[in-house]
Amino acid sequence: MMTRTLNQDVLNQDVRQWLERFESSLEQHDILQVMSLFGEECYWRDLVAFTWNLKTMEGKDEIQSMLNASLPETRPCNWQLEGDASEANGVIEAWITFDTEVAKGRGMLRLKDGQCWTLLTTMQELKDYPESLGLHRPKGAKHGANKQRETWLEARQREEAELGYSRQPYCVIIGGGQGGIGLAARLKQLDVPTIVIEKNPRAGDSWRNRYKSLCLHDPVWYDHLPYIPFPENWPVFAPKDKLGDWLEMYTKVMELNYWSSTECEGASFDEASGEWIVKVNRNGEHITLRPHQLVLATGMSGMPNVPSFPGAETFEGEQHHSSRHPGPDAYRGKRCIVVGGNNSAHDICAALWEHDADVTMLQRSSTHVVKSDSLMEEALGPLYSEEAVRNGISHDKADFIFASIPYKVLPDFQRPAFDAIRERDAEFYRKLEKAGFLLDFGADDSGLFLKYLRRGSGYYIDVGACDLVANGDIKLRSGVSIERINPRSVTLTDGSELPADLIVYATGYGSMNGWAARIISQEVADKVGKCWGLGSDTPKDPGPWEGELRNMWKPTQQQALWFHGGNLHQSRHYSKYLALQLKARMEGVPTPVYGLQEVHHPS
Ligand SMILES: Cc1cc2nc3c(=O)[nH]c(=O)nc-3n(C[C@H](O)[C@H](O)[C@H](O)COP(=O)(O)OP(=O)(O)OC[C@H]3O[C@@H](n4cnc5c(N)ncnc54)[C@H](O)[C@@H]3O)c2cc1C
Repeated sequence: MMTRTLNQDVLNQDVRQWLERFESSLEQHDILQVMSLFGEECYWRDLVAFTWNLKTMEGKDEIQSMLNASLPETRPCNWQLEGDASEANGVIEAWITFDTEVAKGRGMLRLKDGQCWTLLTTMQELKDYPESLGLHRPKGAKHGANKQRETWLEARQREEAELGYSRQPYCVIIGGGQGGIGLAARLKQLDVPTIVIEKNPRAGDSWRNRYKSLCLHDPVWYDHLPYIPFPENWPVFAPKDKLGDWLEMYTKVMELNYWSSTECEGASFDEASGEWIVKVNRNGEHITLRPHQLVLATGMSGMPNVPSFPGAETFEGEQHHSSRHPGPDAYRGKRCIVVGGNNSAHDICAALWEHDADVTMLQRSSTHVVKSDSLMEEALGPLYSEEAVRNGISHDKADFIFASIPYKVLPDFQRPAFDAIRERDAEFYRKLEKAGFLLDFGADDSGLFLKYLRRGSGYYIDVGACDLVANGDIKLRSGVSIERINPRSVTLTDGSELPADLIVYATGYGSMNGWAARIISQEVADKVGKCWGLGSDTPKDPGPWEGELRNMWKPTQQQALWFHGGNLHQSRHYSKYLALQLKARMEGVPTPVYGLQEVHHPS
């Protein structure tokens, strides 16, 4: 016990000493001295606090350039160790807090041999504009006597009647899926007048409209929305309609200005006024909104990729993209071809098989498969699980830990978990390969999360369909694609022919800047360039290396245009930084952006 306490004191002392030296060198703008505190291999990931951007500086030169540019405005101080530091494999890890001129920050520091290896700095709160939470929560009741008393309901109704009509919102979010909803909730706490535009009739419909067998592939601990976590009895893997209902409830109780049955028909930026002109059709009523900021939260999985095969127009059966697949009921006894070998393809094939359809999966290239249980235990469990919660790792804490690992070194952090999965499920993988299934573990064996970050596709979290593939219940044709579609069959690239009544294209989705092309203009879409991907120079993620996801949650090359989206974890975590960036702009806080990304790929 004595030794442990001593060790803990020494660890904490090491971190405090580093922070003291760091603080005094920063205060003196002695950048060379600052750099002496960093190791040869070093990374500084900043989420808004220093750069008003999401940016990872890799190596001393990049860190030095960032500090030279941003120190005069940022004026960081008050660096403190939060809680106890810890140590594993020669790396000391510590939570830290700090202040900048305008904000409170939180971060994570990793020291190797007394020098910084990785540093995460994040903005948590604008000092002058705290969220209406905790001490700042609204009072609700208005005590005293008042002949002009307006009730909560009357105030809400007035806001709904005014906003977008006699009063313009500062921000418009196009797309009211979980992304738009979570961001709007954050902006509400920051008092940023916002309208969410959603073409579906009800909040949650973007999930309800998906194929009927869909349940979340990620577990509840990963999926919470900001402010209102799921209750203790929430299922581990939420069925899509249940999630839809939660989003609808959330939208109401968070008092969002959510315009459902409203489609955005076009938007353009008026340079002279610095406002967007956003044309919407609200249930037949044509309205023009003039916000200062426009967020596209139209979904990473919203622009279907539909391949065009010769002869498709001659097909006499039914054909649709997976996003339009209604579910299996109508296809009992039918010959169904599902094009693709990833999540949607597997889910749809399994549901069709359960309804006695004759199903063939066409897998053109390899897929990364990981069994759900193994993923939970080996990869997600340490951060997002009941056990993690019991160990004091809330989802907020987990989000931070995940964010603190620079993307450049994330593969090294991830690989061991996926190596372990490969070993523990060796027999499972052997059976799949024996059935002809093409497997991979990512370009550099780094597994699922890296594949998701690099290309947002190329994997299946197995919840049962793989056994059906391995035993032949779901027929598999791998390494082939469709050469031609005939009225009642498809001809494959190996010359064979498969009879077909239904073709489902489970072929994924295009980049989010396709939405910018559709809603704004091709010119603006090309100006901002491709969304998502790290520039890892692996399949579907062309280089050069960018170090952060392209265009997501950060300033783009188009003034006042932002992209928001991703899975539930990302939407939750990064909506905070996007909301702070928007609030600062509304309040006129200086927001000098350091290192605005260059565009290497128009789409
Ligand atoms: C089959 C499938 C399974 C998934 N499973 C998981 C999972 O288990 N866990 C997880 O975290 N993520 C999962 N995802 C990924 C992601 O979380 C979801 O795609 C999620 O719906 C993304 O939310 P979003 O709000 O960014 O976009 P969406 O939910 O796609 O919402 C975008 C909204 O924009 C609206 N819209 C588009 N254009 C306009 C317009 N012009 N005017 C008005 N409204 C418009 C659409 O109607 C839609 O409601 C899955 C995705 C798919 C496709």
